[in-house]
Order: sequence, then structure tokens, then C-alpha cells
Amino acid sequence: MESIRELYRFGNGPSSSHTIGPQRAARMFLRRAPKAAAYRAVLFGSLAATGRGHMTDRALEKVFGARPLEIVWLPDRELRGRPNGMRFEALSRTGRVLKQWEAFSVGGGAVWNEEAAPPREAYPLHSMAEALAHAERTGQALWELVEQCEGKGIWRFLDSVWKRMEAAVKAGMEAEGVLPGGLGVARKAHALARKSACFAPHLEPDSRLAVYAYAVAEHNAAGGEVVAAPTCGAAGVVPAVLSYLKERLRLEEPEILRALATAGLVGALVKHNASISGAEVGCQGEIGTACAMAAAAAAQLHGGSPRQVEYAAEMGVEHHLGLTCDPVGGLVQIPCIERNAHAAARALSCCHFALLSDGSHRIPFDKAVAAMKETGQALPRLYRETALGGLAKAWKDLPPAGS
Ligand code: SF4
Repeated sequence: MESIRELYRFGNGPSSSHTIGPQRAARMFLRRAPKAAAYRAVLFGSLAATGRGHMTDRALEKVFGARPLEIVWLPDRELRGRPNGMRFEALSRTGRVLKQWEAFSVGGGAVWNEEAAPPREAYPLHSMAEALAHAERTGQALWELVEQCEGKGIWRFLDSVWKRMEAAVKAGMEAEGVLPGGLGVARKAHALARKSACFAPHLEPDSRLAVYAYAVAEHNAAGGEVVAAPTCGAAGVVPAVLSYLKERLRLEEPEILRALATAGLVGALVKHNASISGAEVGCQGEIGTACAMAAAAAAQLHGGSPRQVEYAAEMGVEHHLGLTCDPVGGLVQIPCIERNAHAAARALSCCHFALLSDGSHRIPFDKAVAAMKETGQALPRLYRETALGGLAKAWKDLPPAGS
């Protein structure tokens, strides 16, 4: 299994598969064809269907800079039967194609094509069952397994992850106004923070959890820099839970970094054995995985055993099975922003249930992940990031605001 460095990617929102992934692919192509007279980027399937809302054009233009770039959107065609395909072409002065290169944005900002070298294996294991067996054999916690496989340099990397997460929470809480995209969605984090300070004592702490999740999700929706955890669309869940617990449990930074290590292990296992891409398996792969990561982190921060950590993560996946991806207008706003806050709350519930138990349960994490993959493959394409079905369609059927 590959490193958690491949999971926590930094970049501009609002969608790791629509912004960070295409930007990486564009840079790869420019290294192959740096001096063409002009360029063309052809976007296929869901990448094209929701690309404008996800600001894919702006993300690509940033990479190509002053070079002439034509973007072609083909929402009704998939490239070689796979979602999120891209074809880059280098053109001569007369428009002749000199070089072309195809790749796929496979979620979380990762890019794949047939020539790509297989990812470097950082872990000699591929399942939670193996991780738990290691923990039982050695007495180590799951974060110690991460350190053992990734080396001590992982702490510096996770420190930069945490600093960026904190910066996104802060930026999102400070900003006010309406989010870009034309849906008329006003930012809520700032106002919620003010209101929560006036709430009765039993409500105030929990509302802070929602404030942090809204803050990062809104910052992402506005194209701000976030950490994909595991994706930009679900980037608010892990920082919200960790920020909340940092205050409630008075956590020190090393404890947060160890929790991020365990959360990263959980996310990397889902990525390896199923998918973290909304276009491939629906929102269960994004928000469901984020919930599992945050639940595992929370269970560890409460002193949970590896079995309880695994149980918390399993519930995070299990109770999001079948969750569709149907973003209104192709923007990462409705239902995505609220969904981050709900998943953060559910992550804490999963943690509490796991801690109340001794960690024994019937469906192992690996089986829940396998079920996610099977369910995602069975989901009609309408519910996998095309913005054509579900809530996205319900929105289109509504009368215009004010009528
Ligand atoms: S509905 Fe879920 S998977 Fe789809 S864009 Fe929103 S957060 Fe991502």
C-alpha cells in the first residue's frame, strides 16, 4: 500500500479530482511538450459535466499560464470507459496535433494512466486485518505502524498537514459573504461561530464542531487552499474533529499528529481497496472515508485500543454505504458543505460507540470497504458526480428563487 503522503495532498479547492488532479496532469504533460505553439485540454465524462462548477478551467489556466489553451468539454463521453478522463494535446501554429497524452484523475488529486509507474509501496500490508494483527503481535498502536513504515520524516510531513488544516479552519471562520458559483449560498461559519458563543453551555461545544467543518468546507468551495482528507469535497471532517478535540481534551500537538497518522492509514486502506473518488463510488468514498478517518483519530485520542479504533472506522464506512454524489450545479456546496458537518458529528458518535464497546463487532472494516466498492460500482452513473441526478436534479425542478 502506498504512503499516506499520497493521500493528504495540498492544493486549491473545490475538488481534488477536478482541480488538484488536472493541475498535476497538466504539469506532467507540459514536461513532455513544453514548447508547443498552443495546447488543447479535452475533458471527458464527469470531469466535463461538473468541471465548470468545480473551476477546472481556472485550475488548468493557472498551470498553462500565458500559453494559448483551448478547453473542450465532453460530458457525454467517457475516455476508454473510465471516469474523469483527460486528453492533452500540443498543437503546431497551424493547429496540427504534435503530441497527445491521456490520463485520468482518480480521486484525491491523484493521476493515473497506463504508463504511470506503480505507486511506491510504503507498507508491506494491504488490509486493516493485517494492521490489527501487527498491533496485536507487537503491542504497538496503529500510529506506530505508520512511523515504522514511513520513517520518522512522516512527522514533519504531518506537521505541515496540520498547519494547513488549522489555516483553512481560520480562513473559513474569518470569511463572510456569498460563495462563488451562482447558487446564492451564503457562508455560514462566521455567523455560526458568533451564535454558538451565545448558546447555552450544553450546546456551545457541539456547535463548535459544526463551525469548524463549515469553515473548511466553505473555504474549499471558494477555491481556498485545503488538505484533501481524503478529498477536497470532504476536507472539513478531519480538521473539524481534531480542532474540536484539541480544545475539549486539551491535546498537545504530537497527539494530533499521531491521530493524523492513524486517520491517514485508514484513508489509504480505503483508497487501496476501494476508492476515495466520488466519480467512481459516490460520496460514500469521500465523506464516508473522511468520517472513518476522523472516527479512528477520535477513538485513538480517547485512549481507544487498536480494535476500538478499527471499530470506529468501520462504523464510519458502514453508515455511509450507498451515499450518492449529486452536487447541485456541479458545485461543491449543496449538499457537500453541510455533509461535512454531519459527518464530523457522526465520526464522534462512531468513536463514542466504539469506546463503549470492547471493540468486538461482526463486520470487519475490510468487509465494509469491500461493500463500499461493490455498492459504488452498482450506483447508476447519475449518482456519481455528474450533477444530473438526485439533489442536483431536484434543484433544477425548483421554481427560481423569488418567483
Ligand atoms: S456530494 Fe460528496 S462526493 Fe460529491 S462533490 Fe460533494 S462531497 Fe464530493
